[in-house]
Amino acid sequence: MKYKGVFWDIDDTLYDASAPWDVDVGTERELMLGKRKLEVLTEDQLSCFKPYKGLSELMQDIPREKQGIISNGGHQLQIDKLKLLEVYEYLNPELIFTSYGEIEKILKDSEHPLFKEAIKYLDNKEELFFNLRGYTGKPNSYMFERALEKIKVGEKCSSVEDYVMIGDDWKDIEGAQKVGMDNILISRDEKHLHNPWTNKIITPNQIVERGNIDELRKLLFN
Ligand SMILES: [Mg+2]
Repeated sequence: MKYKGVFWDIDDTLYDASAPWDVDVGTERELMLGKRKLEVLTEDQLSCFKPYKGLSELMQDIPREKQGIISNGGHQLQIDKLKLLEVYEYLNPELIFTSYGEIEKILKDSEHPLFKEAIKYLDNKEELFFNLRGYTGKPNSYMFERALEKIKVGEKCSSVEDYVMIGDDWKDIEGAQKVGMDNILISRDEKHLHNPWTNKIITPNQIVERGNIDELRKLLFN
């Protein structure tokens, strides 16, 4: 493999997320908070959780200890999606980073600079996630930094460009570029991305058309 580690986004990167997510806002919020499980979705919706053709074989070919996730959202929800997609077993559980999962870690670490902020919302998870997700979530560099710290343990002479982030959204690419990680956009046709918050144009390092797993494999292995 060309890289010493591969990190994936989940929605629209591993599977087409447009179909299964026709749920009301209240249900979506409860899923994010872990108050409800994916089983609330209909059979039809659940059957849409299928990785792009050939993707699961590609993930299987990447060493498990070098493969992880960087995802915005509820930790258990994202893990449940990975299990439904049948790709969880190809991932190193220690390299699965979610924006809400990172907030829960802050709550357990009294030395963390954000600990005092986090315990203010101890009794209200919704407020807690809402107020702190800006620190931990993409496009912030927070999860990318944690991911690199974790994966680089024991690696000699590796630099950040030895690791790659694969995602479909400007937040994936901008986050990776903030820390210097290589990045691949799963594109719906676009060559550039737009950060609507700063009005900045983001140019991914590499682009693969959505669903073109052969091309993605070449970028990872050649
Ligand atoms: Mg996505």
